[in-house]
Amino acid sequence: MAALKRNIWALYFLLVTVGFVLLAVALHQRWQALISDETSYQLSRAELISQSVHSLLRTQELVLDVVGRELLNNGKPLSDQRQIPLLDSIMSVNPALAGFGLARPDGTFVRMSTNVDPAGLLNLMESPVTGADFRRTLESDTMVVGRTYYLEAVSEWIIPIRKALRSEQGDVIAVMTAGLELGADGSVLDRNLHDGEDDSVILFRETDGYVQFMSREGVGPEQFSSIQVNQEQLASQRREFEARAGRTISDIMASREAAIFTMDRAGSEYLTASIYDPRYHLWTVSETRFAPLYREFIGTLIPYLLSFAAGGWLLFILFRIIDRAEKERRQELLHQARHDDLTGLLNRAGLLDRLENRLIRARPFSLVVINIDNFSGINDRFGLEYGDHTLVEFGRRLERLAEEHDDLARLGSDEFAIITPNTDVAPLMQACTNLVEDLAEIFEVGRLRLQVGASVGIARFPEDGDSLSKLIRSAHLALYEAKQSRNAVCVYKAEMETAYLRRLTVEQRLRYGLASHALYMVYQPQVSDAGKTIGLEALVRWQDEELGFVSPAEFVDVAEKSGLMIPLGNFVLDTSLREFRQLLDKVQQPLDLAINISVIQFCQPGFVDTVLNALKTHDVSPSSLVLEITETLFMGNFDQVLQTICDLRNHGIRLAMDDFGTGYSSLSLLRQLPLDELKIDKSFVDGIVEDEKAANMVRSIVAIARSHNMSLIAEGVEEQAQAQALIKMGCLRFQGYCFSRPVVMADIRQMLSDTANTDNTPATIRRS
Ligand code: C2E
Ligand code: MG
Ligand code: MG
Repeated sequence: MAALKRNIWALYFLLVTVGFVLLAVALHQRWQALISDETSYQLSRAELISQSVHSLLRTQELVLDVVGRELLNNGKPLSDQRQIPLLDSIMSVNPALAGFGLARPDGTFVRMSTNVDPAGLLNLMESPVTGADFRRTLESDTMVVGRTYYLEAVSEWIIPIRKALRSEQGDVIAVMTAGLELGADGSVLDRNLHDGEDDSVILFRETDGYVQFMSREGVGPEQFSSIQVNQEQLASQRREFEARAGRTISDIMASREAAIFTMDRAGSEYLTASIYDPRYHLWTVSETRFAPLYREFIGTLIPYLLSFAAGGWLLFILFRIIDRAEKERRQELLHQARHDDLTGLLNRAGLLDRLENRLIRARPFSLVVINIDNFSGINDRFGLEYGDHTLVEFGRRLERLAEEHDDLARLGSDEFAIITPNTDVAPLMQACTNLVEDLAEIFEVGRLRLQVGASVGIARFPEDGDSLSKLIRSAHLALYEAKQSRNAVCVYKAEMETAYLRRLTVEQRLRYGLASHALYMVYQPQVSDAGKTIGLEALVRWQDEELGFVSPAEFVDVAEKSGLMIPLGNFVLDTSLREFRQLLDKVQQPLDLAINISVIQFCQPGFVDTVLNALKTHDVSPSSLVLEITETLFMGNFDQVLQTICDLRNHGIRLAMDDFGTGYSSLSLLRQLPLDELKIDKSFVDGIVEDEKAANMVRSIVAIARSHNMSLIAEGVEEQAQAQALIKMGCLRFQGYCFSRPVVMADIRQMLSDTANTDNTPATIRRS
């Protein structure tokens, strides 16, 4: 049944086979009916003819008896030959007879009807045709039927019938003989008893096998009278028949019903019905060749076969239509199963198929995985409908940009893939970079003008993975790296594997570290040009049992990308404010506390409240707090960020732009931002003394701060010369190893108390 469901043609062939079997059964029954009809016909014809012949002979036997006795009763001696007119009148009422004759026991004729020419009569005892039968007549009490022969005396073919007339003592006095006319129309032995050229009626003699009568197309007495049934052949046929029918020949001969059998004769097959007349030792055979039966059967077979063929053909057409519809449906389902509804590109399953095919072909190719940057932002901000539009547009652009032999797919929500035969790194990188640039073009959805960035990871077959899973993993690692490094395109490198594993471990350990209080805070003093500590930057530290010391640059990054930034940020805020409060309680000195805030924290709904609550909890004035933010913050929703900055500032909290100059902030952006402080990045401070470019950069930053009315602080000051150069340029606040490394709060307290006692700064600034 399952096979039928799977393949409709199996059902077709089953139906055709069933149809064929039914046809075969119907034809078989038709054949059986044909044979049965023919059998009945032959049997009844044989019986009918046998009975008619028997009655005819019986009647004629009586006539012979009566006429013979009458002739003898005349008492005339049988010495002279005479024609008797009386016999003619008997013949006239008995049209079956061709002539009468009375012979002496020695075979010579003595009396005859007038139509018989005595000159044409032979001695019955001596003639080879009549001798044997005549002798039998002399011995028999019943009438004996003689061999068919041509009687010159009446110029006709006759069947002689003879009966011995006996005295009261039983001696034969004479033999009454007559000739039955052969083949007269309408008579019992009509020569047209047969039905067509394949049909015949035969009477033959049991005694010697000679044919007595035959009604067959083109055969007359001249032919059949000399036919003698081959006795050997007859005997073997009888044996075969006895074996097949389970009846003996004597049974059949004694039976009053005809028997039917088939036989092969001279290369033809016959259906033969036979019945025996024991009184006259005559077999009546009614037979037909099978050929007309076959012809008739074929005549009925043809319409059957034509109907079967027509039915089969119609069914075939129907099944072909169904099959095609089914195939189309399957094709459609397969297409659906392998394609993405939204973009019409291949889906993950479709891509896996193509990849597998390429792996089998074993020709080099590259798998390029493309991820839309911050796609969830579009969904969150504008709704799913816009998200969908973006994906469709992105897919369309990919299609436009892809080359002829590339396969395109959408792997998941915002992830796309290209399989390309291109594997040369440089052109591939270039093509992908161009792709990212093209994809980044602005497009319109309704009234919105959207722009999306994308990151690309590339893995090549076979060098970056010789199996499907390895190759996909490599491409994703490269994509991951692209996202991490903010380089739009990355080609897989083995090192990425280690970096990825490191990230996984860091993430896992950090989760544990946050829960098990393995993190703590250190503080780096910020000093004025007079060498006085005016503030502290809170910096988080993590000493892990397994990993040892992990740099905050590394684990903060991991936290940002793994959802750990919020608990980490809360820990920093809470711990640093608590320790700051404790410090303030000990040292009576105005101090600022600078805390680094990650983008994720800053964009978290309720961030302002979180800060205010923490300030309140630890009783720290908002005016002492400086929040350090970075330029990456403005890559997202600018309006929202601006709103949060304003809220914070309205509560008296200040904001500093960390690492200023390393990002991409434009002056126009800066103009719109209500910031309180710029932190000159260490990279400019590093080269400030000898690198004119760096010095110029610092001068520009000082000018910007002044023009925007912002305070300035330089970080990463390691040498006195750098501090002095900065002072010269107009930056009067510093942070760096030159003054102090970041230390725990206890050390800060110690440092500040020492300073208060000695009135010394951590490191004095020498003014030039
Ligand atoms: P940042 O906010 O720019 O912090 C300044 C970094 O420069 C600190 O590194 C500090 O130890 C280092 N530094 C200060 N003076 C010198 C110097 O003279 N020479 C040198 N070579 N380095 C100096 P740190 O603590 O490793 O922090 C690295 C970055 O990690 C920070 O850069 C900040 O972006 C992030 N970070 C550290 N703590 C936190 C935190 O509590 N919250 C957040 N969100 N980020 C933090
Ligand atoms: Mg900082
Ligand atoms: Mg910095």
